[in-house]
Amino acid sequence: MKRDLPSVHQWPPDYFTIPDKFEGKPYDHPLAWICTMGCSWYKTGGCTMCNFGSIDVKTIPDYARDQTREIIRRVHTELGEKPNLDLLVLGSSFDTAEIPTESMLAMFTEATRFPWIRYITTEARPDHLSHAKLEGVKKLLYPILFGVGFGLESANPLIRELCVNKGIKEGDSSAAIQLMNQLDIQSQVHILLKPIFVSEAEAIDDALSTTKSAILYGGRRIVLMVNSVKRHNVQHSLYQAGMYRPPWLWSIREALNRIKDETANIDIINVYGFKSGVEIVRTAHNCGKCDEEFLFALDHFNYTADLSRLNDISCPCEYDWRTALEQKNDSLVKRIRAGCLYLGHNVIGDAFSEEMLDPRLRL
Ligand code: SF4
Ligand SMILES: [Zn+2]
Repeated sequence: MKRDLPSVHQWPPDYFTIPDKFEGKPYDHPLAWICTMGCSWYKTGGCTMCNFGSIDVKTIPDYARDQTREIIRRVHTELGEKPNLDLLVLGSSFDTAEIPTESMLAMFTEATRFPWIRYITTEARPDHLSHAKLEGVKKLLYPILFGVGFGLESANPLIRELCVNKGIKEGDSSAAIQLMNQLDIQSQVHILLKPIFVSEAEAIDDALSTTKSAILYGGRRIVLMVNSVKRHNVQHSLYQAGMYRPPWLWSIREALNRIKDETANIDIINVYGFKSGVEIVRTAHNCGKCDEEFLFALDHFNYTADLSRLNDISCPCEYDWRTALEQKNDSLVKRIRAGCLYLGHNVIGDAFSEEMLDPRLRL
């Protein structure tokens, strides 16, 4: 598709914290990232909601090392000794097109110089993982424990492939989880709440069924990634056209309650999606009057796995959410097709022809 400028990440590397639990206590968990050439999947079109663009500078080992040292020192200066942190690149830590192997190893090696760190999680696409790579980093970090997060997004192939454009094959995610379990590396499975084209009710159903799949595959932690609108991607074009609304906050509460009722695994879930290293145009929201209370209660859930504060919230806008849930829609295939035709004619322009549609969308 036609794009405007990609996001640009430059020195210095940065971080934010997310509410979490660690060793049974509430924990402000730093997510720190270093600048790289950016996600190579994004450069080919990428996931519809993402814009992890790039700097056109190769991440040589010295640059990876310097950035890692800089950001860990900054976290230390501002927050003190944080034993558990995420150390990320802009896309996938095991993608050699994004970050050469020597530079990735330099990043993790540098982290071992800080004696208070006991746990490091990174992120990667599942198709970039291998036994040798995972085992190599696990050994390098030892005795620091190692975890890897990745985006499964949805266990439904139609949603994962045509709504998210994830580009991973059936089986990549379960194989990645099994591999991590074999190596005793903690897997963290990201599930996207409400990709484009998916209705409010479908979004909740899909979050629940994908969580069940991730647990069945053996996933140890689950991140419910609440979708938000960022610039320079397909989702933003649809949002501008009034064809996408981020999820209602009520849908997060509903999804969490159903996950709790149907899997009894609520303590392995965290809700992300309200902070990012890039500008967020619109996050999940309700009417505006109850949003702050809701976000506060979501933080409480992330700290404690206790849903009671979320469940205590009431606001008249719950009625509007219920109306959205009951809305009658065309089939998902028809909605995807309509969205793709809109994007084809309005974003790609004259170069677009209906022959370019995925065969599943040809009526
Ligand atoms: S979500 Fe991950 S894999 Fe997809 S484009 Fe963004 S960084 Fe790349
Ligand atoms: Zn409200």
